[in-house]
Amino acid sequence: MILLPLVGLVLAAPPQSVQIVTPRGTASVPVTTERGVAAIAFPRLAGSLRASVVLQGVQATVDLDGTAFAFTLGVPFVRAGGTVYVLAGEPYVARDTLFLPLVWLAETVPRVLAPRYRWDAAAARLEEAAPPVVMAPPLTPPVTASPPAAPLTPSAPHPITGLRRPHTVAIDPGHGGRDPGNPGRFFPRGVTEKDVNLAIGRLLRAELVRRGLEVILIRSTDTLIDYADRGASCSAACDLFVSIHVNAMPDGRRQRQVNGIETYFLSEAKTEDQRRVARMENEAIRFETDVPPASDVIGIILRSLQDNEYLRESARLADLVQRKLAVVHPGDDRGVQQAGFIVLSLARRPAVLVETGFATNKDDAAFLTSALGQRKIANAIADGIVAYLLEFERKVTLGGGGGAAR
Ligand SMILES: [Zn+2]
Repeated sequence: MILLPLVGLVLAAPPQSVQIVTPRGTASVPVTTERGVAAIAFPRLAGSLRASVVLQGVQATVDLDGTAFAFTLGVPFVRAGGTVYVLAGEPYVARDTLFLPLVWLAETVPRVLAPRYRWDAAAARLEEAAPPVVMAPPLTPPVTASPPAAPLTPSAPHPITGLRRPHTVAIDPGHGGRDPGNPGRFFPRGVTEKDVNLAIGRLLRAELVRRGLEVILIRSTDTLIDYADRGASCSAACDLFVSIHVNAMPDGRRQRQVNGIETYFLSEAKTEDQRRVARMENEAIRFETDVPPASDVIGIILRSLQDNEYLRESARLADLVQRKLAVVHPGDDRGVQQAGFIVLSLARRPAVLVETGFATNKDDAAFLTSALGQRKIANAIADGIVAYLLEFERKVTLGGGGGAAR
C-alpha cells in the first residue's frame, strides 16, 4: 500500500538538524534543503545508526539493522519488504555523497522498523531502542538484485504449454474504483473501460492458471490501485507484467472509424497517436491519493528508460502478444507501439500495455463487451505470454542459465 508522506514535514520549515539517539550515544545530523526538500547526508547517519549502503548505478540499497531499503536516485519512492513507500522528495548524490529525504528517516523507518525506531517530531529526534536481549534477530540480507523467478532445475514440460519451469505473471486491469478509464462511447449504459479491463483480466487469469502459470491479479474487484503498487507487484518473484486497457479516439473526423489493437512497451513516444495514448493512460494518476507533480512523473519515466534492462524483452513480449491478438480481433492490427507509461516504468520486469480495442468504434466496442470477444482477447494474450516464456526458457537453457542445460 502507498503511505502518505508526512505533510507537516513538507509544509512546515524543516528542522536545521535532527538528533539520532541510540544506545551507543547521541549525535546531531544536519538537514539540508539545497534541493528544495529536507534531506540528510547518508554518511552522517551511518556514523550513528547501524546502517550501510550499496550504490549500483542509480540504485541505492540501504541496510538498516538488517532491513533493506531500496532507493532509486531521483525517484520519490523507497521499497522495503515488498512494500513501496512514497517519499516527499528524492534521494540524490551531491559531492560524492548520498542524500536521503528526511521523510524516510522520520516516517518510513519508524513505520517499517517499529517499535525499534521511533520518531519524535516535536524534538526532531530519531530514537533507536536497545535490541531485545533474548536472542539475536535473524538478519535479512540486503536486496540488491532480484533473483530469477524461475528455479534453475527444469522439470518435465507442462502438458498444455510445454513450459518446464514455474512462471508468475502479473495482470493489471487498468483503472478501477473512482477512476473509470475511458467512458466508452459505444459501451452499454453504465459500462466503462475499467469494467472491460477487469473482465478481460479475470478471464486471462483463469486461462493462465489453466495452463499451469502462477498469476498475480493486481485488482480482482472494482478498486483503484496506485501506480507505484501496480508496478511494484511485479518484481522479484514475477516474470512479466501485462496491463490491460481500452483505447479511445478524441472527437473529430476519424473518431468512429479508427479501430483495432495496439500493444505498447515502454519507450519514448515517436508519434502523436502514441503520445495521445500515453497521456490518456497516465492521466489516471490524478485519481491517486498522493499525486506527484507532472515533472516528477516525466522524470520517473525518463530515468526508468535509461535504467531499464528489460526494454528489449518487453518489445519482444509486445510483438508476440500483438501477433496473437491480431488473429482473433475483428479490428485492425495497429502493431506494436511505444510510449512513456508510468505503470510500465515501475515494473522491474518485461512489461507491456495492451489496448484491446477502441471504445469509440462501434464494432470494437461490441466485441470488447461480448463474452466471446473478451474470452478471445484473454486467450490470445495468454498465447502471446506462453510463446514469450517458451522463448525465454530456450534462451536461458542455451545460455547455460546457471547450469540449466542438460
Ligand atoms: Zn486505460
